[in-house]
Amino acid sequence: MFWPMVTLSSFIFNKMKKLLVIGGGASGLMAAGIAAQNGAETIIFEKKLRPGRKLRITGKGRCNLTNIIELKEFLDHFDSGKRFLRQAFARFFADDLIRFFETLNIKTDSERGGRVFPVDNDAGKVVDALENWVHRCGVTVRTNASVESLLTKDGCITGVQVPRESPTAVKAPYANRSRKSRENSRLYQADAVIIATGGLSYPATGSTGDGYRLARDVGHTIIPTRPSLVPVKTSGDTAQQLQGLSLRNVEVSLYVEGKKSDKRFGEMLFTHFGLSGPIILSLSRQIVEEIQSKKKVEISIDLKPALDEQKLKQRLLRDFEQSGKQRFKTILKELLPRKLIPVCCVLTKLDPEKIGNQITSDERKRLGRWLKDFRFEVNGFRSYEDAIITAGGVSTKEINPRTMESRIIKGLYFAGEVIDIDADTGGYNLQAAFSTGWLAGQSASE
Ligand SMILES: Cc1cc2nc3c(=O)[nH]c(=O)nc-3n(C[C@H](O)[C@H](O)[C@H](O)COP(=O)(O)OP(=O)(O)OC[C@H]3O[C@@H](n4cnc5c(N)ncnc54)[C@H](O)[C@@H]3O)c2cc1C
Repeated sequence: MFWPMVTLSSFIFNKMKKLLVIGGGASGLMAAGIAAQNGAETIIFEKKLRPGRKLRITGKGRCNLTNIIELKEFLDHFDSGKRFLRQAFARFFADDLIRFFETLNIKTDSERGGRVFPVDNDAGKVVDALENWVHRCGVTVRTNASVESLLTKDGCITGVQVPRESPTAVKAPYANRSRKSRENSRLYQADAVIIATGGLSYPATGSTGDGYRLARDVGHTIIPTRPSLVPVKTSGDTAQQLQGLSLRNVEVSLYVEGKKSDKRFGEMLFTHFGLSGPIILSLSRQIVEEIQSKKKVEISIDLKPALDEQKLKQRLLRDFEQSGKQRFKTILKELLPRKLIPVCCVLTKLDPEKIGNQITSDERKRLGRWLKDFRFEVNGFRSYEDAIITAGGVSTKEINPRTMESRIIKGLYFAGEVIDIDADTGGYNLQAAFSTGWLAGQSASE
């Protein structure tokens, strides 16, 4: 049951509990709505003009809300935060999230790999539904209001400071202005504060890493951040020549210092700077780490993963015999996407005009080797601007996983990507944001 129980006593005592949520993304909206339903007087501060800007662009505008695979498998998709998230998922997981959105009139459906999307395929509707819900719950949403610092006293949170320039940060019901701050900023008192400011990726959506600074200023450790689920850059101009080409059902292997270290099967994309697409993004976490430690990183694409070397050899022999009178470049049309053909001829050093029955066995072998091992040297990765998520963040050792409360500052809570948690693509990151938001909202209002 995801809905908080509102008893008469909790209602009476919690009614006046003042809660401030910093950030109106997935985790902040969920936290604020739940806390308000629980009886807390709740304000969200959102630095952009509207909440949920990142949520609107998730899943290529379709919003992959969560994933319906088993919990154990679900957790395996997390790099950091696996153990930490168990408690949050035990309280509010994928089925709860799906039911929650049903109550907001957002029906969902699952697709390949258990990915859950709204049936309307419209992330905008998800944001609108969440916004309407928090308003109905009685949450005050202050947009264009960027929280500058936290206020603490004797190890307890007492409020936040918001600069006055934020034009829509109008007078709050319980704003307490000290003489000194009166000119430049406004102080808001609170019994509890939830930091839900996201990470550093796609900064245009408002996630510019403020939460790390806020947490560090009050004594929290920040695990060094790095872009994750990020496209990678490759040497040479081969990727550029293939720009826009997307390959399905290929197997990509990651080589570090010449040794195979991981592999993925699925879809990838060539870009003007290198490689992207789902399987590249999911390997990127390790690639970033290896590149940062100055290791030699290569990516090998197996263009024919369904055929082992022997079967591929037979297939090539058959193709070249059957089309013996055709040119090499024409025969390749049966084997490769059109855009790959000139690249294949250059890299295998095979003459595109050569007639099929003149292709030697050595040349066929060369082609076979290349089809199984189309290699790229990786020389970097894109910045936070292009990274789906940020790895690193507030250390989970300093957050109580049962409540999301800081172990350092009483009354301070964390939710979402600001915490050191990160997962693969597939709906895992949004579920983590919603689950930690739900738990933080619940605990902070209790
Ligand atoms: C292009 C893209 C596609 C994605 N698609 C998916 C997907 O389909 N499925 C999935 O599971 N995950 C997806 N993700 C990841 C997912 O969107 C994030 O993990 C998730 O949004 C994190 O939620 P959050 O609430 O922690 O942070 P955010 O959604 O980043 O929200 C943080 C909010 O805090 C506000 N803020 C920041 N600092 C302050 C401040 N000082 N004062 C006030 N407000 C502040 C920001 O403006 C922002 O609105 C995608 C990410 C990107 C970039």
